[in-house]
Amino acid sequence: MSKWHKLDRETVLRKLGSDRSWGLNHDEAIHRLETGGPNKLQEKPQKPPWRILWEQLIEPLVLLLVAAAIISALLGDYQEAVVILIIVILNALLGFSQEYRAEKAMAALKTLAIPKVKVRRGGHWHEIPASELVVGDIVTLEDGNIVSADIRLLEVANLRIQESILTGEAEAVPKSIDPLTEKKIPLGDRLNMAYMGTLVTYGRGYGVVVGTGMKTQLGKIAKLLQKVEAELTPLQQRLQRLGQQILMASVILVVIIFSLGLLEGEGLKVMFLTAVSLAVAAVPEGLPAVVTIALALGSQRMLKRGALIRKLPAVETLGSVTVICSDKTGTLTENRMTVNVLDVVGRRLNLTSELIRDGHDLDLRQQQPSLLKKQPQLVWLLLGSALCNDASLEADSDDPQLFHVVGEPTEGALITAAASLGLRKSDLEPLFPRVAEIPFDAQRRRMTTLHHVPRDGYCWPELLQQPWQWHQNLGGMPYMAFTKGAVDSLLDICTEVWVNNHPKPLTEVWQSWIQDSNDELAAQGSRVLGLGFRPHLSPYIDHGTIIEQNLIFLGLMAMSDPIRPEVKEAVQTCRTAGIRPVMITGDHPLTAQHIARELGMMVNGGILTGQDLSCLNADELTEKVLQTSVYARVSPKQKLQIVEAWQQQGQIVAMTGDGVNDAPALKKADIGIAMGVSGTDVAKEAADMALLDDNFATIIAAVREGRIIYDNVRKFIFYMFSSNSGEIWVMLAAFFLGMPLPLLPLQILWINLMTDGLPALALGIEPAEKHIMHRLPYPPSENIFSRGLGWRIIWVGLLMGFVSLGTGYYYWQQQNPAWQTMIFTIVTLSQMGNALAIRSERYALWKIGLFSNPFLIMAVILTVILQIGIIYVPFWQNLFQTTALSVNDLLLCLLLSTVVFWAVEAEKWWLRRQF
Ligand code: ATP
Repeated sequence: MSKWHKLDRETVLRKLGSDRSWGLNHDEAIHRLETGGPNKLQEKPQKPPWRILWEQLIEPLVLLLVAAAIISALLGDYQEAVVILIIVILNALLGFSQEYRAEKAMAALKTLAIPKVKVRRGGHWHEIPASELVVGDIVTLEDGNIVSADIRLLEVANLRIQESILTGEAEAVPKSIDPLTEKKIPLGDRLNMAYMGTLVTYGRGYGVVVGTGMKTQLGKIAKLLQKVEAELTPLQQRLQRLGQQILMASVILVVIIFSLGLLEGEGLKVMFLTAVSLAVAAVPEGLPAVVTIALALGSQRMLKRGALIRKLPAVETLGSVTVICSDKTGTLTENRMTVNVLDVVGRRLNLTSELIRDGHDLDLRQQQPSLLKKQPQLVWLLLGSALCNDASLEADSDDPQLFHVVGEPTEGALITAAASLGLRKSDLEPLFPRVAEIPFDAQRRRMTTLHHVPRDGYCWPELLQQPWQWHQNLGGMPYMAFTKGAVDSLLDICTEVWVNNHPKPLTEVWQSWIQDSNDELAAQGSRVLGLGFRPHLSPYIDHGTIIEQNLIFLGLMAMSDPIRPEVKEAVQTCRTAGIRPVMITGDHPLTAQHIARELGMMVNGGILTGQDLSCLNADELTEKVLQTSVYARVSPKQKLQIVEAWQQQGQIVAMTGDGVNDAPALKKADIGIAMGVSGTDVAKEAADMALLDDNFATIIAAVREGRIIYDNVRKFIFYMFSSNSGEIWVMLAAFFLGMPLPLLPLQILWINLMTDGLPALALGIEPAEKHIMHRLPYPPSENIFSRGLGWRIIWVGLLMGFVSLGTGYYYWQQQNPAWQTMIFTIVTLSQMGNALAIRSERYALWKIGLFSNPFLIMAVILTVILQIGIIYVPFWQNLFQTTALSVNDLLLCLLLSTVVFWAVEAEKWWLRRQF
């Protein structure tokens, strides 16, 4: 059925077996979910494990090794064939486990990104994952939501939806609820419908779900969406290119060694196997998987710390961030608002913390209506702020006297304050029903609601008897508008002020009186809202032009919002890490300044307001950003300009955002960060990362993780390349020295398995370097071999080759049969020393603690034990053609294997002294 738009609301509800004020029963919803399936678009199925394994086995190098094993077998060398196959299988299993873990990690991240929806079931509102929606559910739609199913609208308040995903039309469509009668109505004209995947850009409403999952309009075209392939991150792309170049280089090298060997009179089969083994050793086939693992595991670690990565490249960019532009409310502060001052012109009430206990959770046993008894103007102020309000108080399931806020904290604080002084929104709303509204938006910084007002005084609660009298004096009109918002924005539309029970003209004197009170409260770090009202004859809002005019200013309400305790340290960390923290807020400049000072953010910059910004052109702003640490009263559009200005300065910018209008700035920023708790779906969709706790300190934790990941990828690359090049130098130089094959094919494969194996993986999980947040960020375009890495790879490889081959050459000259085993052992063990030394790019191993990466220690010990096994266990000796070394020779091997370790440590020591 796709004609829901033609039916009236009641018929739709009846047909779907639902009720607008009750919704579905829980059992019915569960039943429908079981029969109808989850509300999800079909996704491309995950790669099954066998497919991952198969892809490992058909890698060209693996196939070459299999061919080598077959040739060995055909030539009668079964033992060698079996060992090659075992090594192939071990290699493939290693690759498989890496790939599998990477896939799993990515899939886990994806499921976490499912949005939540507010649905009415059994008469109450609940938040459930969008995937659990069923046909017949009553769901709300709010500014910033991505519609999560196909919905027939039942009630709308200025609801506008942008449907470009379905219709291509970029302009948001105003929605309505009336049935449509025309015969053929295209999707874009079905004004009483909201379709899955479209964006609510303004207003709110609710409706009944008529289609879920693949049965939605989006589902019909979803097959197109499934084709999107996972993109490679910039680092992965660069490494992929590098891998191809190395493949080419190693083919050339292998051909050279192959020819040299033949020239020296080595057998064809040995040389073929050597060439294949060397190719396997030289090509860093594990690199892409290890990088994916490092990124995926890194994003899991970030998740544990509260940062959900939505786009993998962000993990890399995070480490390079140089500027973090952060919202104030909820990110730097806790967004736990508590009203502490009520101020009506001429009278002020300080609400003590005993009155409103524990944030904005309310305990009815602590109600104190007596505080208001003789203050009718405060009652009027609280009535307005409770009615012009979308939050609600829900009773605790265990204790009906305890309530918690559902909705926005600023609004929650107001209804809590009103309720604790005896005015409960749930009692007031039926008496003063809302008939129209103009929702809050960050541009206007205010909201208005229009209420029907009962004519007879006895209908008004006792506390409101005096205001009722005032209402009568003002003409007793049937409707009343309340507007609450930022004081400056409210004063623009007020012409009168309520003083001593009467409206008085809002003269300049009164204006500055109100401004001064506002500034005084803001300078203490409070968020200040003002409230105005106006009686009306008619219930119609004409786009706000009439209703938000000529208001009577009633009073101010200041609320405090504690600074998050961990943020101060995070701001400090930013400084040592070469990152500039910047605050961007919609709040008053003095509020912003107070909080920025507390946090130590004002150190190298001043403050600019949205108004200042509107007077600057792009070039001027680019100049100014360097000297500005706080932006106040900023609109979302200006956020975009700030990002662009920083980027003009060549900075890598992270920007937080929560609203629907923040999406362009989030997209433009190098790292867009959405608020996981208070953010809208649209902001989350546009962002690269979401903060599950909305906390600024979490951004810093994520940056730190980003830096660790990049460091570890570099360590891994260094380890792999220096080890591989060491083997190649040994092979090449031996020919020039006229020696026979210094390493046999199986020995090369063994060394390779050890290199690519456990120690390399253990390096990928190396903990953070001590100075990681005490250094400047590296540019994201930095060459992976920069800062001396390329040079280090060359000299470490050469040294490894020199020590092992030099020893082998000496033994060979002495005609000592152990010469080859000496080379083999020194190469293998040198790599272990290398792995230990490069755990830190800067500090000595003993400084960072030998056991701070236990996996690496275990990997090294295991490798040494296996190597000793290969030298002394007769069966393995036979396979790997080793000779049992004398104790002296073994000790010499162990000693010489530490040369690389000491050399790398010496270089680090020298570098530490330089910088
Ligand atoms: P930040 O950018 O620091 O996170 P914010 O995004 O919460 O702050 P906005 O929500 O844009 O800031 O609010 C800007 C101003 O609008 C506030 O200073 C306040 O004066 C006013 N305001 C905020 N919420 C409401 C509301 N629910 N009703 C009326 N006015 C509001």
